[in-house]
Amino acid sequence: MRATRAVIHLDYFRNNLRVLSENALRLSGRKPGFSVSVKADGYGHGASQVARVSFEEGATAVAVATVEEGARLRDAGIEGRILLYSLAMLEEASAIVELGLEPFVADEEYIDALSRAAAGAPVTDGVPLAVHLKIDTGMGRIGCRPEDAAALATRITNDRHMELAGVCTHFPSADGDNQDFTRRQVESFNGAVEEIRNAGVSVPVLHLANSGAALQVHESFGDMLRPGIAAYGYYPSHDQTRALDLRPVMEFESRVAFVKTVYPGETVSYGRSWTAQRRTRIATISVGYADGYNRLLSGRSEMLLFEGSGGRTPRRVPVVGRVCMDQCMVDCGPDSPVARGDRIVLFGPDPRGPDAEEIADLVGTIPYEVLTQINSRVPRVYR
Ligand SMILES: *Cc1c(COP(=O)(O)O)cnc(C)c1O
Repeated sequence: MRATRAVIHLDYFRNNLRVLSENALRLSGRKPGFSVSVKADGYGHGASQVARVSFEEGATAVAVATVEEGARLRDAGIEGRILLYSLAMLEEASAIVELGLEPFVADEEYIDALSRAAAGAPVTDGVPLAVHLKIDTGMGRIGCRPEDAAALATRITNDRHMELAGVCTHFPSADGDNQDFTRRQVESFNGAVEEIRNAGVSVPVLHLANSGAALQVHESFGDMLRPGIAAYGYYPSHDQTRALDLRPVMEFESRVAFVKTVYPGETVSYGRSWTAQRRTRIATISVGYADGYNRLLSGRSEMLLFEGSGGRTPRRVPVVGRVCMDQCMVDCGPDSPVARGDRIVLFGPDPRGPDAEEIADLVGTIPYEVLTQINSRVPRVYR
């Protein structure tokens, strides 16, 4: 196996789920259920592995964004409930039914396509298809208008091929430092739920809270939380107080592939953007932007270098010159004992080195994107 790998600390993932659960209990006095987001290959961590651990930790469900992601989980032997957060195309309806996914629905045409697919499904025990009615209370992405929710809920309930398993909404700014908009969304959602009740539909599981809301907006907890990023050890934004023991689950690491001495005036990497000002030791790492280590990190990021074998304290070393497709270079300093094979961490849970948030800040994005960019060329190793 190549030296560059993503070590996935599943014990930290378990820890984060427990921390979220305890936090919910502290804020609301109850322990809600969980639908753990494992879309985008479990935010880059490996969907089937984190799904399995989620269920072991008592999750009600896991969630994907595409039908194919759901199929892969079923192929990997995941038998628990799988929610489908994004809308599929109408022609994917029969696959949704066959795989036993629980889609979010928000309009009649999609509901009817699912109903036709469910009607054609072999009858097992119970109703062939469970769906979740998504109400748009301010995200502006998918969802019905709150005033249309009761009619759609009635349509679903009256359809003998499907059942209403959940009613839900989503927050665009629950991770911010001002929760007024989120609270207004909760009120709008509760109003729509009231109308659904008044229409004689028995209201199923209510779920609203992404990580941002799960961390700080207890009014939004409903019956089930829908965390993603927090389970992987990151806060969704800088506005959240760092009060909980969330631990980054992914450790993106490699080993030194080559060491050389460069002399003043010599340059490193494409475009010759970095020139040595002194004699120094440069290590080459076999990781590049084609692994998901962003090229915008060129000359900006640091890595945590574990030099030599003698239990030396690791230290941060700067990336110098351009990040290439498959390689990049770090400046270890003139007196470094760095040698081929030394371990180096690009980001992870070790507080001495960068985490994915630091990397995200350097390139102007969020930890979600940093994690999901680590692609399939990088083997995942589970601890
Ligand atoms: C991805 C997603 C979540 C999880 O969001 P995080 O910010 O990662 O917690 C929850 N709900 C829906 C509908 C999503 O698409």
